Amino acid sequence: MHIERNNALVLAHYYAPPAVQAAADFVGDSFALAQQAVRSDKPVIVFCGVTFMGESVKILCPEKEVLLPVPDARCALAEMAAEQEILHIRETVEDLAVVVYVNSSARIKALADVVVTSANAVKVVSRLKEKNICFIPDKNLGAFVAAQLPEKNFILGHGYCPVHEGTTVSEVEASFAAHPGALLLAHAECPAAVRERAAFVGSTAGMIAFAEKSAAREFLVATEEGTLYELSRRCPGKAFFTTRADFVCADMKKVTKAALDAVFAGGGTRVEVEERTAEGARRALVRMLELAQ
Ligand code: SF4
Repeated sequence: MHIERNNALVLAHYYAPPAVQAAADFVGDSFALAQQAVRSDKPVIVFCGVTFMGESVKILCPEKEVLLPVPDARCALAEMAAEQEILHIRETVEDLAVVVYVNSSARIKALADVVVTSANAVKVVSRLKEKNICFIPDKNLGAFVAAQLPEKNFILGHGYCPVHEGTTVSEVEASFAAHPGALLLAHAECPAAVRERAAFVGSTAGMIAFAEKSAAREFLVATEEGTLYELSRRCPGKAFFTTRADFVCADMKKVTKAALDAVFAGGGTRVEVEERTAEGARRALVRMLELAQ
């Protein structure tokens, strides 16, 4: 299929390679980009990210053609949620809300009462009337939310992002030693011991907003290194260092500029979500939007 660049909205996640971010119409986190797709009048969306992100756009914009430059760029965390686990908890726990992180497949979202992002999870869960919260799949984000809502009982999934889970306190300490006076910004998917050392914990977009407002000049960044491109662009004169030399999501890096260019030469993979699944997932996403207001 031949696609004119003028007919397409190109969206790139913060973790995409810098050349891809530079070529995109918008750069952001997965849900902010899905909202850009909803607002756009372009009939084609090219999403430079992993598969679940393309699915979220297709669920919210079923009438649009959604294309991924690379079909096998996948999120390991999104594949750690098990349908059987959710169904079992639903059968055995009363007064329960199933809360699913946006980093999950459409099939898992369709089983949720509500979806959350790392930016709005605390607010959304705090507004649920249920006492018991099944939070799936990210155990680190779940623990971060649970620590702020002691009035709820949490049943946490066992999933984790291998990229963020791998960061350690000793790496953070070595980074502080190299950059004394720097502030640590940590993604909520990081382990608790790293989150506890941070001046800010939250979403990638939240980390960028914190750095923009802060009077500090140096920051240690505990998230995927692609974020440094947007941090440097938005915060001229400030210095950013990842807490690890290889803070890289290999799947995000599969989405190269060459792969993006190939979409406009007839390439790309069309995203399809079966309608019944899309309907269930859409309901959980819309509930998130209502509760996050
Ligand atoms: S960084 Fe982690 S959560 Fe993000 S896409 Fe890669 S594996 Fe998934």
